[in-house]
Amino acid sequence: MGESLRRPVRETLSGGSPEDWAGMSDEWVLHFRCYLLRPRTGRPVLVDTGIGAPGSPASTWAPVPGGLLGELAAAGVAPEDIGTVVLTHLHSDHASGAVTDGVPAFPNARHVLQRAEVDWIENAGPNPVLDRILRPLTGLVDVVDGDAAVAPGVRVALAPGHTPGHQVVEIGPLTLTGDVVLHPVQLVNPAIRYAHDLDPEVAVATRLALLDRVRGQGGMIGTAHFPDSFTELS
Ligand SMILES: [Zn+2]
Repeated sequence: MGESLRRPVRETLSGGSPEDWAGMSDEWVLHFRCYLLRPRTGRPVLVDTGIGAPGSPASTWAPVPGGLLGELAAAGVAPEDIGTVVLTHLHSDHASGAVTDGVPAFPNARHVLQRAEVDWIENAGPNPVLDRILRPLTGLVDVVDGDAAVAPGVRVALAPGHTPGHQVVEIGPLTLTGDVVLHPVQLVNPAIRYAHDLDPEVAVATRLALLDRVRGQGGMIGTAHFPDSFTELS
C-alpha cells in the first residue's frame, strides 16, 4: 500500500563504487509503503501508517494524502478492526497516518514502539510527530524494549541507527525492514549511507546484520521505499 515521490538518487545516498551503482536509475521513485498482516488468529496488524492526511506532519514534503485508509477499505478492513499498529519509527512518512486531525485513526489498536524511540523523540526538542502524533496516541501505546511478540507469529526487533529506537517486524522468513534499507543499492553495498540516518555508523552495522541474517535464512524483505514491495535474498 502506498504513494510515491520522485527524487535524484544521489541527493540522499552517498558512497559506493561505480560498480555498486551500475544499472541503478538516477531517479529514485520513493514509495511510502505500509503493510497489512492478517494473522491466522486475532485481529489485523498494520506496520507503519504512511504520510497521512492533508496537513499531517509529512505534508510539508510528501505527496499527501496517503492512500492507506482507502486501500484498507478495499481490502475489507475498517480502521476499527486493526488490533495492533507497529510504528517502525517516528519519522513523519511512517507515523503520520496514525492520527487524523488530532484523533487516533485506529482507535482500537495498541501502537507498538520501542522505548529508545519514545525516549529519543521526547528529548529531541520541538517535533511535529511528537506533538501531533505521539501525544494524541496517549493511552494507546505499548512501549517495548528490544525483541517482543506483538501478535501470533509476529515479532518486533530493535534495529537502531536510522533512528535510535527503530524496529523491524519479523514474520517467519519475512522481515519488514522499515528504513534499515532505503534503496536497492544498499543490498549491493550496505555501507552506502543515507543522509537521514541519525547515526550512520550504527545504521550500517544494523543493515549488515539484518541482511546477513535474512540471507542466511534464504528469506525475504518487505521495504518501505523500494520500487517493489518484496525482495528475496539468497
Ligand atoms: Zn522512511
